[in-house]
Parts: sequence; C-alpha cells; structure tokens
Amino acid sequence: MSNPEDYTVGWISAVATEYVAAQHLLDERHPPAPRMSSRNKNHYTLGKMGMHNVVIATLPLGRYGIASAALVAEEMMNSFPNIRILLMVGIGGGVPTRHDIRLGDIVVSAPGNGSAGVFQYDYGKTIQDQEFLTTGSLTPPQPALLATLAGVAARHVGQGHTYEQTINTVLDNNPRLRSNYGRPDLASDRLYQSHVVHPADDDLPCDPNCGDELLISRRPRTQLEDSPAIHYGLIASANQLMKDAVARDKLAKQKDVLCFEMEAAGLMDNFPCLVIRGICDYADSHKNKVWQGYAAMTAAAYAKDLLGEIEPWQVEQEARIVNYYHEGSNVYNEGSNFYNEGSNAGGTRIEFGGANNGFQVGMNHGQIHHRQG
Ligand SMILES: [Zn+2]
Repeated sequence: MSNPEDYTVGWISAVATEYVAAQHLLDERHPPAPRMSSRNKNHYTLGKMGMHNVVIATLPLGRYGIASAALVAEEMMNSFPNIRILLMVGIGGGVPTRHDIRLGDIVVSAPGNGSAGVFQYDYGKTIQDQEFLTTGSLTPPQPALLATLAGVAARHVGQGHTYEQTINTVLDNNPRLRSNYGRPDLASDRLYQSHVVHPADDDLPCDPNCGDELLISRRPRTQLEDSPAIHYGLIASANQLMKDAVARDKLAKQKDVLCFEMEAAGLMDNFPCLVIRGICDYADSHKNKVWQGYAAMTAAAYAKDLLGEIEPWQVEQEARIVNYYHEGSNVYNEGSNFYNEGSNAGGTRIEFGGANNGFQVGMNHGQIHHRQG
C-alpha cells in the first residue's frame, strides 16, 4: 500500500485518452492507496515521475466539464493532503490564426496582461453577435512553478526538447498504443479558412465536403524549430465546446487566447493550478479526433519535462493545496495582487468589441472575493 502523505504532485486528466497518456509517462507505478473515505469517488494512479511522487486522477467517465473537474480536484486534495503542486494536463483546441499553432503543439497557461493564465467565459444570449461573458479567472500557479516554466522555456530556446523521443519510447514499450497515440500523418493537420463551416451532418468527412482549395497552407517546420512547438499564454475555459472559427478568432483577437478547453475553470478560485494542453483540433466546426491521442502525449511529455526541472525540496516549500481550499485563497498572498485585477469570481459581464483590453467592464452579477489577506 502507498502512503497518501508521500505524494506532493497532483495531476488531473479529464478524459480517458489523457489518463492513458499520463499513466504511461510515469517512470514507475506504485500500488494503490489504502482505503479512502466513502466520499472519494475518484480513480487514481500513483507513481513516480522523475524525482516526484505523483497522483494522477481522472474525471468519471462521461462527466466532462467544469463542475466535474472541481469535484475531482477537491476529493484529490482531501485524499492526498500533501499535494503542493497541481497540474491539469490534457487536450484542447488551438487558435491558429494569431500564432503559428499546429496540431500536436503544446499550450501552457502563463499569466500576463492582468490575467492568471486561464479565464472562464460563457456565451451571451446572442451568439450571432459574438457576445461573450467572462466569468472569472483561475488562481495562477505558485511563483516557484512559474519560475520553473521560465527555466524550461529558456532551455528549449537553445537546446529544444526531446518529446518525440519520449513518446516513441512509450510507444515502443507499449505497441498497443501506437495506432491511437502515435503522431498522425502531417497531411491530416488541415486548417480551413475561418469562414468555412463544416456541413451540419458531423459524420461527413472534410474531404471532399469542405473544399481543399479553402485550406490554409503552412510551410513545414524546419529541423531547427521545435515540433511540437510550445506556446505560453492565455487559455479560455467554458462548459461548452468552442467549435466556431469566427467566434474563436474574435475572442482570440480580443484577449490573445491561444487555446480553448472545458475543465480548467473548475479549479478557478480554489487552487493554484498550471494548465497544459496538447492541441488536438482548431476549435472550429471541422472536428478531427485523429490527433487526440498524440496531443495527450505531447501535453504529458511537457508536464514530465517540467517536473524534471523542479527539485523535490522546492515543491516541499509550497503550501499544501488542501489549505487553499479550506482557508479560501488567503494563503496565497505573495504576488497575488498582480493577478487580482480581473479575477472576480462572480459573473462580471464583459462585452467584446471596441478597444477593451482589460477586464471588468459592465456590471458584476456575482460575489467579489478579495484575495489579499
Ligand atoms: Zn470540415
């Protein structure tokens, strides 16, 4: 039996594909934890990654979205009270129009421009007017983790990364994974112009229904460029899947969003959390499942790389995440002022359009939490 107190890193996978990728990047697996409270309904995988003892949890089958992620995280922190770093690792839809983001690339939530790295949004009443409501902002990762991100990014500038090798080793050791988790043929990375909408019948393939002449052609990456590439910036989270390229571009333009996903906001205002997303589609109407397994792998490979950069003593210096939950966010004083602009937990209404760079324009429908203690 493993001792729950030994685990300092929490890792949340939303869907089965992400869970499989995470499990296979562990360096060793540990036996299950002893019996837990009857409240716990999560499935956990315990093991070692680099120098860290890691708990991986997944959302219950078929229960995706923000509320489910929140519940899984809460139960995890209660069952493994020594967790000090929380990672949410999985797949998401990329925004290819402002940055050169391609399928299999990795987006890492990074604070900037008054945002903590992830914000929650919802559609307004009139989707045709492209009105979005931003409803909050995630608690950012601890400063030590952000410093580690900077270290990883700096290393990649000169040396690049070896994720392809990491993934190939997993596939060589687990041949059953190869067909769904290996890198798909590059020809299946198809990016349509934003106005091209997939036929209402989802089952129809893009080719020949969407028109090859409307694809955006991109030059191949060179050997001196990282592939997959890693992008640091803002992630938008909602309970609804983003599948509209025009809406995607509009929100991306306003806030420089790099990625859309469906779970991270569940941890909003509760825990500091780093979100890592492998890009499996372009958040448009042309859904393409072929890249999901590989994108889950690249996100997990980045998380492993990150954990290799941070020392166990650095992790031990962070507060237990369960304390954030029990005490509100007050334990997170240091540096939090920087992020508080725009992190209203209530329902701050934002109307897009015009030169609105910031947050909190309009009326507040919800409570405002003041984080500074
Ligand atoms: Zn299509």
